[in-house]
Amino acid sequence: MSDNNKLGFNSKAVHAGYHVQSGPVNPPVERSSTYVFDNCEDGARRFASADKKGIYSRLYNSNCETLEKKIAALEDGFGAITTASGMAAVEAAYFAFLEPASHIVGTNSVYGPSRSIIEKEEFYKKWGVSSTFLDTSDIDAVRKAAQTPNTRMIFLESPANPTLAITDIAKVAEIAHDLDIPLVIDNTFCSPYLQNPLALGADVVMHSMTKSIGGHANAVGGVLVAKTEELYRLLRNSVVNRGGILSPDCADLFNTGVKTLGLRMERMQANAQVIADFLKNHDKIGWIKYPGFADHPQADLIGPGRQMRGPGCMLTFGVKGGYEGSMALLNNLKLVILAVSLGGVETLIQHPASMTHAGVPEEERVKAGISADLVRLSIGIEDVDDLKADFEQALDKV
Ligand code: PLP
Repeated sequence: MSDNNKLGFNSKAVHAGYHVQSGPVNPPVERSSTYVFDNCEDGARRFASADKKGIYSRLYNSNCETLEKKIAALEDGFGAITTASGMAAVEAAYFAFLEPASHIVGTNSVYGPSRSIIEKEEFYKKWGVSSTFLDTSDIDAVRKAAQTPNTRMIFLESPANPTLAITDIAKVAEIAHDLDIPLVIDNTFCSPYLQNPLALGADVVMHSMTKSIGGHANAVGGVLVAKTEELYRLLRNSVVNRGGILSPDCADLFNTGVKTLGLRMERMQANAQVIADFLKNHDKIGWIKYPGFADHPQADLIGPGRQMRGPGCMLTFGVKGGYEGSMALLNNLKLVILAVSLGGVETLIQHPASMTHAGVPEEERVKAGISADLVRLSIGIEDVDDLKADFEQALDKV
């Protein structure tokens, strides 16, 4: 195939990693745990190779390889490593970069478990790992927190989940590189279609592919994309040796889903702007945040050619009447689905304080802006008038 780098986003999403001029257009699913060696010398040669191809499926699988090449092309990284889930990717990065007694700086409203495994789980406690999770859109505060001598990595989610605060990735990359520590970004909310953190100076990008990369709520998986070969090898070992690999069947679903990522994101984003404007003007909505509003605090980082090429499909709001008001809305929606997860073709709504972020202590949740009335909405590709009608009928009942 022609040089990937010259192709546009949608062409890469369709063709990178697997492009044939004969035979099946889609790669067959390689459901085999192990591979035949031609002879003993061949087996020894494969074991000695860097890519460990054709040995054993935990070390290499062709469907995962296709997906890894696609995502690496979309994020413009040296290489990608697929994982069993988004959390397996987060954990593989923590395990690769943290060591006993090290300190991590992170966004305070990252996906709940990305924070709680550091703060609450016995493993990192036993290691004596300490952390500062803070509002990383405050660059001076990040710089100060990262000065702790044993800081070993900075982990950002931007936009933050679910507060939608946006961190200037290039500025934090400067801080990380002055300190010679890696900057890892959870890019799940944006997908590679809207944001490419490696181009902004980050060292590693991770995605929960369960979300918009897959796009159809039919598979769980994660991916890490490394900027350099050295980081790629470190992270691949962290995943493969500890076993959190992706299955060939899930890789196949993601290989199909990712092909339409650009189209889906355009539609979801257009729908999100309409629904955000509709809710903003509705008299039963108390407050609303959406990166597509001109008064978003980091609006200068959003738009064509900027850090985040578009506002995305996620919005948060509170219904008048607080917690009870928000619950009444959630319980009365009919087309919009009450479920966690995001970025898929179906519009999903959830309540972070009692669901995705329930593991974060209440005091920390409040500090991170996750109020009791906060509702998180992920807009899908449905006909926008149907979504509006559903909100209208449910808000009538509040
Ligand atoms: N990061 C973000 C932003 C998420 O929303 C999620 C899941 O909701 C994860 C990471 C974890 O991904 P997974 O559920 O695939 O393990």
